[in-house]
Amino acid sequence: MKIVLIGPPGSGKGTQAALLNKKFGVPHLSSGDILRGEVAAGTEFGKKIKQFMDRGEIGPAELITEMVLAHIDEHCSDGFILDGFPRTEYQAVKLGERHTVNAAVFINVPGEEISARITGRRTCRSCNAIFHVKNSLPEKDGVCDRCGGELYQRQDDNETTVANRIRVYTEETMPVLDYYRKSGLLRQVDGARSGETVFRDIISILS
Ligand code: AMP
Repeated sequence: MKIVLIGPPGSGKGTQAALLNKKFGVPHLSSGDILRGEVAAGTEFGKKIKQFMDRGEIGPAELITEMVLAHIDEHCSDGFILDGFPRTEYQAVKLGERHTVNAAVFINVPGEEISARITGRRTCRSCNAIFHVKNSLPEKDGVCDRCGGELYQRQDDNETTVANRIRVYTEETMPVLDYYRKSGLLRQVDGARSGETVFRDIISILS
């Protein structure tokens, strides 16, 4: 299974990828998590990319593409659920040169819902699980249900950066939809519903 999840920020790609991982055991690879790991580790690459991430922009295309493709080679060359990658047509082409993608699932969420979703999002520092202050509360305030890690608000999950991330998504990532549409791989789900309902749709699409 080689699946790509595409959608605006806050569309639930991470949540759906985690559910798919749980059901099928196929590795979930989030390019954002990889990059945040580099920032947290204070690597040279992390220092370089942080300024782009803080602004919600796409960083150095070739470097990021190589890094994500190397992660795939290392951890999941036989199957993956990609979340946040490819984000540009260039990345989609490079991925296609190395892997045969089975389906690209577009999780469609209207713009007005995105901001509320993102600003209320809380992420686990240890396992990257995703919660929400209104829709998906953890059992214990500030503590991850899955691993007990600390929940935090990502630095780029704020009103100002969200506006930029939506602009970048529209300009850079929407062409990726056309790329997969042309190759007959694009499938669309309505993401403006509960996570369980969206997940059921994705399962039926994939089967
Ligand atoms: P995400 O966790 O997918 O919301 O990504 C957070 C930030 O990481 C984005 O706003 C970008 O700055 C950066 N990023 C994540 N994935 C990519 C990618 N495939 N290409 C370039 N930048 C990325």
